Amino acid sequence: MDKLQWVRDELNALRQAGKYVPIRALQSPQGAWVVIGGRKLLNLCSNNYLGYANHPEVKRAAQEAIGKYGVGAGAVRSIAGTTELHEQLEREVAEFKNAEAALVYQGGLLANLGTIPVLVGKGDLVFSEELNHASIIDGVRLSSATRFVYRHSDMEDLRKQLEENRKAGRRSLVVTDGVFSMDGEIAPLPEIADLAGEFDSMVYVDDAHGEGVLGDHGRGIVDHFHLSGKVDVEMGTFSKATGSIGGFVAGPSELIELLKQKARPFLFSSALNPGDAAAVMRSIQLMRSDDSPLRRLWSNSDALKSGLKKNGFDTGRSQTPITPVMLMDERRTLEFSRMLYAEEGVFASPIVYPTVPQGKARIRLIPSAVHSHDDIRFAVDAFVHTGQKLGLI
Ligand SMILES: *Cc1c(COP(=O)(O)O)cnc(C)c1O
Repeated sequence: MDKLQWVRDELNALRQAGKYVPIRALQSPQGAWVVIGGRKLLNLCSNNYLGYANHPEVKRAAQEAIGKYGVGAGAVRSIAGTTELHEQLEREVAEFKNAEAALVYQGGLLANLGTIPVLVGKGDLVFSEELNHASIIDGVRLSSATRFVYRHSDMEDLRKQLEENRKAGRRSLVVTDGVFSMDGEIAPLPEIADLAGEFDSMVYVDDAHGEGVLGDHGRGIVDHFHLSGKVDVEMGTFSKATGSIGGFVAGPSELIELLKQKARPFLFSSALNPGDAAAVMRSIQLMRSDDSPLRRLWSNSDALKSGLKKNGFDTGRSQTPITPVMLMDERRTLEFSRMLYAEEGVFASPIVYPTVPQGKARIRLIPSAVHSHDDIRFAVDAFVHTGQKLGLI
């Protein structure tokens, strides 16, 4: 008997269902163009919104920090893994976020897994938006709190669920993505904060796709809506617009103090490496000092959307640079993406069921500040050629 036959069976089942994801290895840095298999491709599927993943000053900051502090943090934060860089970074993040304090984690996923179970536990309630990111869902599961899921951006449903259930629990948390990563929509955070206030609930926003993209100098969704002080916890990642790796939560200093005593990734997983902490700090300093990359990001995003719409494509309800090109049919979407890659030299991810509902398949594009206007035109032309070949436009 082969005890691992089930592994082969599962892999085959994934392949047969068209859900097997091939992993493509890049032979170049992140940028407007990348090299894969020796071919240069226009990159429209990275989260490197502002180009900081390969920015000379950000790289230099990491190199200098490695020179001074070495490559490894050596321990968990609570034992010997906290360097002065980590503390400087936490002050920098708190200031950028206009919050009292911040805690840096090794990643955004870990920030959600670590923080949510400290905020709520057994006997508490979580009101969670239907389209929340997997790391929020897992954080809520780890917390053992009772979970209620409200419909996407539906404030009447959130109110109804709070009315019906809030009294049954001790503490209560409303948790939402700031920007929905498959559609590019922005959560109605002012209404969420008001409802949470009315029903004595904490508010937690995961702003992974809003950081560096929304608000003054990319301060994120709380700044975008001028909600400082009304959102209890702002969580974010350093792996998207910030261009590196790591995650954080920003909020009241006593809450941050408690997280340092209780959050499991802080206590049981080694600290972010010093080079990464330094890179992140430099990216944030760049965001604060110069918002021209942010403006280029938005002008590229506007040009991409209007070019696609003018040529008959549906770009959904996006309010941010995340640009879904709605093709609806699963097979058509996979074929479209394959043709873009093989025939047009465009790297763009197909998003199909179960990541999005059946019949709502799309190609998701993320333009960046480092794309040129010619790159955007190249992308639109590639969509037009492919759309014509497939008889869609
Ligand atoms: C990417 C993402 C995360 C995870 O962040 P990492 O730093 O990559 O672990 C969490 N939440 C949302 C909404 C994200 O888009």
